Amino acid sequence: MGTPLNEHYTKLDQKYYLPTFRRFPIALERGEGCYVWDVDGKKYLDTLAGIAVNALGHCHPAIVKTIEEQAHTLLHVSNFFVNKPQVALSEKLTQISELDHVFITNSGAESLEGAFKIARKYAHSIGRGGHIISFENSFHGRTLATIASGKKKYQQGFEPMPSGFSQASFNNLESVKSLVTDETAAIVIEPIQGEGGINVADKQFLKDLRAYCTEKNIVLIFDEVQSGIGRTGYWFAKDYFGVQPDIMTLAKGLGGGVPIGAILSRAAISDSIDFGDHGTTFGGNPLVCAVALTTIQVIEEQGLLQKVQETSAWLRQKLEQIDSEHIVEIRGVGLMLGVEFDFEIKPVILDMLQHGVIANVAAERVLRIVPPLIITQEELGEYIDVLQGSLNKLKTHA
Ligand code: PLP
Repeated sequence: MGTPLNEHYTKLDQKYYLPTFRRFPIALERGEGCYVWDVDGKKYLDTLAGIAVNALGHCHPAIVKTIEEQAHTLLHVSNFFVNKPQVALSEKLTQISELDHVFITNSGAESLEGAFKIARKYAHSIGRGGHIISFENSFHGRTLATIASGKKKYQQGFEPMPSGFSQASFNNLESVKSLVTDETAAIVIEPIQGEGGINVADKQFLKDLRAYCTEKNIVLIFDEVQSGIGRTGYWFAKDYFGVQPDIMTLAKGLGGGVPIGAILSRAAISDSIDFGDHGTTFGGNPLVCAVALTTIQVIEEQGLLQKVQETSAWLRQKLEQIDSEHIVEIRGVGLMLGVEFDFEIKPVILDMLQHGVIANVAAERVLRIVPPLIITQEELGEYIDVLQGSLNKLKTHA
């Protein structure tokens, strides 16, 4: 950090960019596989992957090829016309999810907004109100409706919040039941909370929640923006849990690096949507759909779901061997792992960065590991060594 070009770009960034991200003073310039390089030529192992986005790492040849070909063919057309990549992607997504309808968005938050609208439209069609229940510590995005369903901390200063949202305790069905009224349209949950600190839902809780929603005819929305598209070693976390939602939201890994999200739904719910009820200009354009389809095809062709499960088992073992009395718990599924410490770990992340590893913290005390799905044991070995080194330094300073 603090090298000439990094400093130069950091200063310009601070001058021009809305100061909403507390950025590291590093300007990243290029990437290949699981590595990125900054403007001063320093190499980093990227175990954050653009926050669980770069499923196939950086500049994967298949993605580069698809972008090149699509750029020569058709980049964007209006959603008033059918486009081939969108049709192909929609077909593929319905096949792997066993859901019926697809709507392509530009981001995770936009997927959630659309999911809330579909759920409310359905609820109104059966004479219900639009009340939506989410969970404590959840994160669904930064738009107004998604902050209304997320952490209170992110609502401060942006009141009034959109109405019709309340929060239950995670993994607590009684808490859900206590909030449900005749006006309840939907329950939205991350099967594995990402930003909240890699909190994995209890399998039985999700099964019970499914049964309860079916009984009460409440729409169950799984937010799989972070956990979807192979991250758990299954196409979706719902498959790991064996629980089928009515609506599922995606983004992040779906595009392998291009901005895309999706809402998938059961026809029985989304048949309530009519012409003109929802829309987007950019969502589902040929470029992003072609890249998303390639991402899914590469995951399939390279057997990455199985590989993620194997890499995850290996990594967990290595994490369990880490020498630190400060580890509280190791948890997660696939390559969505968290190591909870008994202190705020930002200094560890900064030290790892100095040593060429981009690591990440969620919920202050949890080391979040969401690398590209293609990461090798050798690369993860490098991560473990650097992590151990940074933790050792803490011991020396203690
Ligand atoms: N939902 C979940 C589970 C997320 O993790 C995120 C982002 O981290 C979002 C929604 C919001 O996605 P985006 O930042 O693309 O709007």
